Amino acid sequence: IQIHKQAHYDQLTGLTNKALFHDRLDHAIEHARRHDEVLAVMFIDLDNFKYVNDSMGHSAGDKLITIIANRLKDCVRKGDTVSRWGGDEFTVLLPSIKRLSGIYKLCTRILNEKFSNIVIEGQELRITASIGISLFPQDGDNPDKLIKNADAAMYKSKDMGKNQYNLYKPQMNDKILERISFENGLFKAMKNEEFTLVYQPQIDLESNKITGFEALVRWNSPEKGVLAPYKFIPIAEETNLILPLGEWIINEVCKLNQSWHKKGYNDLTAAVNISAKQFFQSDIVEIVKNAINNSKLNPNYLELELTESIIMDDVERAINIFNELKKMGVKISIDDFGTGYSSLSYLKQFPIDCLKIDQSFISNLTKDTINDITIANLVIDLGHKLGLQVIAEGVETKQQINFLSKYACDKIQGYIVSKPLNKVDFEKLLNKNKD
Ligand code: C2E
Ligand code: CA
Ligand code: CA
Repeated sequence: IQIHKQAHYDQLTGLTNKALFHDRLDHAIEHARRHDEVLAVMFIDLDNFKYVNDSMGHSAGDKLITIIANRLKDCVRKGDTVSRWGGDEFTVLLPSIKRLSGIYKLCTRILNEKFSNIVIEGQELRITASIGISLFPQDGDNPDKLIKNADAAMYKSKDMGKNQYNLYKPQMNDKILERISFENGLFKAMKNEEFTLVYQPQIDLESNKITGFEALVRWNSPEKGVLAPYKFIPIAEETNLILPLGEWIINEVCKLNQSWHKKGYNDLTAAVNISAKQFFQSDIVEIVKNAINNSKLNPNYLELELTESIIMDDVERAINIFNELKKMGVKISIDDFGTGYSSLSYLKQFPIDCLKIDQSFISNLTKDTINDITIANLVIDLGHKLGLQVIAEGVETKQQINFLSKYACDKIQGYIVSKPLNKVDFEKLLNKNKD
């Protein structure tokens, strides 16, 4: 009996294991085929298990899995099978379905009731799950296919924001394959050095001189050509690739700026975009410190661009990190200013140097819309009253420059000056700008 148990049941939870689930599904398919019935496979994956495991330890993780296993067992009918598929994944076999609404009700009950009031080591945990469902006969006629498709539907639930269920739809596998191949390509890109940087000049409106540049990343994909950041940065964030990528970018930019300083362009400030994950999940202070040390760049000539929403994610921590960076001499700029919370009371507390007015306000300056003119004007005033530099980005026309000059904006960046350039072309521009 002991050996039988080990071969068919999960040791931790006592649930059916993968092998036995597969077997039961096989028989259920045969039965459903003979009786013209519909059966369903549910694939359930906890959304935040890794967090529990990492922050509270493995034994807490095991307790959580056991609690979930018991609750799942409690909410299905006698003929249904719940299995521990692996890790924090469970599968459920519902051998005879009369109405889809029955499955929907079960999913709702699992998501709304079965994951609430979970207390482990005195701490109440907010656990959610993503569920995918496939049906026999329409989604597959064998166990592997049904499970694979339920898994695909579960991924859809994750993609749509987690804590929900979805039925399988045929186009899901294509999307998932595409996504997986994109992710793989992105990981290889780091190793194969397919990322490049381009540099967009920032000029002082009064002197007309180049005072610095913003570094912008590109992916030079062998298959897809040159990709703009919006195509891959979000996925780089989700997969954590942004951490090594972001570190590489900071290092590259510091080295390059130092090399320009050595050539005599020694007032040039380099601005680098920092994403939320990079800011909170890597040791950004340490990374910047290393980049400064390795390049020997004067830290006053490195500026980090962060959006308001990043800062607002965790104000306390953001202020602490800012203070560390300021101690080093690094500058901080608020990107896309005006689009986020624009919380003025917080703005005072942040040790920042520069506000970057969002493009959307600048593009509307041409259209003579009073609101945007007023906002741009107010932002410039506000920045100056707080003792900050103000830069306008996305400046494309002479008319916009006129407005910005009139309101005493300090600097501009945009196509009217130059598109982002590779380093050779940027250096040519620096050379021309000298006189
Ligand atoms: P952002 O920081 O707001 O960057 C400004 C974007 O506006 C850049 O697009 C730039 O090429 C574009 N732009 C510049 N001048 C003009 C103009 O006159 N008119 C118009 N219509 N657009 C202009 P890009 O390079 O595609 O970057 C898009 C976003 O990707 C950036 O927005 C930034 O949020 C993110 N990003 C870029 N590089 C990096 C990076 O190295 N790390 C991280 N974490 N994010 C990056
Ligand atoms: Ca930026
Ligand atoms: Ca921006």
